[in-house]
Amino acid sequence: MTELICIGCPRGCHLKVDEENGYKVTGNSCLIGAEYGANELRNPTRVLTSTVKIKGGLHDCLPVKTNKPIPKGLLIEAMGQLRNIEVSSPVKTGDVIVENLLNTGADVIATRNM
Ligand code: SF4
Repeated sequence: MTELICIGCPRGCHLKVDEENGYKVTGNSCLIGAEYGANELRNPTRVLTSTVKIKGGLHDCLPVKTNKPIPKGLLIEAMGQLRNIEVSSPVKTGDVIVENLLNTGADVIATRNM
């Protein structure tokens, strides 16, 4: 049995996930918690937020994020890939900076105009 706090909303329900019983979740107040609890043990994922270098922009770094969650185990490798990226201004919010990051199916997109 593993205990987690759900991050689905500010209520922060205390979840218990029973790995030996099909990842059955208790302590959740809604289905988001049930899904989060089971996924967190089977295949945890996170949206990656970071920055990449930009030439000719208002600042030296452009904020970016993945357009969907990627496996938590790939976050360090993904950050390493972003460290080598440099784009040129102008960039618009939502522009794709990296397509299909590490073959996850997630794109890295800009989160501001610059
Ligand atoms: S289980 Fe539902 S109500 Fe509870 S913290 Fe998660 S999202 Fe919020």
